[in-house]
Amino acid sequence: MKKLIVASNNEHKIREIKEILKDLPLKICSLKEEGINIDVEEDGKTFMENSYKKAYEIVEYLKKQGKEHFMVMADDSGLMVDYLNGEPGVYSARYAGEHGNSKKNNEKLLEKLNGVPFEERTAAFVCAVVILTSEGKEIKVEGKRKGNIIENPKGFDGFGYDPLFYVPEFKMTFAEMSGEKKNSISHRGKALELVKEELKDIL
Ligand code: IMP
Repeated sequence: MKKLIVASNNEHKIREIKEILKDLPLKICSLKEEGINIDVEEDGKTFMENSYKKAYEIVEYLKKQGKEHFMVMADDSGLMVDYLNGEPGVYSARYAGEHGNSKKNNEKLLEKLNGVPFEERTAAFVCAVVILTSEGKEIKVEGKRKGNIIENPKGFDGFGYDPLFYVPEFKMTFAEMSGEKKNSISHRGKALELVKEELKDIL
């Protein structure tokens, strides 16, 4: 069975990926499980550039170690707000300066949108996923979910910008949805479904 190494140590992400790809003949493992400890700098201008760089550097690292017959999957995602010309974009995790401080990131976003009416607070979560194989094959997909940024956070589940991201079709923020519901309609869920289709062709 071919090994798919996911360029992440985020348990939640790995679980979601395993669930979506469970029907494929793949052994899915995290970087930690493979004993890989590389920190790839995410300095690309797009989500796709960042994902590609992450996957590429890990593939090269493993090849130098003489490893064969493997695939590496990397993803990068974030929020793009139309009124802010695509901000926070690739800076989503560190919008307010400190990596992963969701409270401050959300506060900054609300400040920047202060006074902007609901109809103009349109946004999209985007997720770019890249898979590179040791034999040189590549898969690149992007998943998108549109919504609006509301003025006051709603809901308790989720992470990051979830409490501010309202999906009109479901009349709920991401943070008000169950994990299962969110995964079924999210940017990441969509990207992983596309990955699944493309993987079927190369396995
Ligand atoms: P990552 O590339 O998945 O690590 O996401 C980068 C950043 O984008 C996160 O730190 C969050 O701020 C934001 N983000 C990405 N996906 C989501 C989501 O599904 N909900 C809320 N925030 C997200």
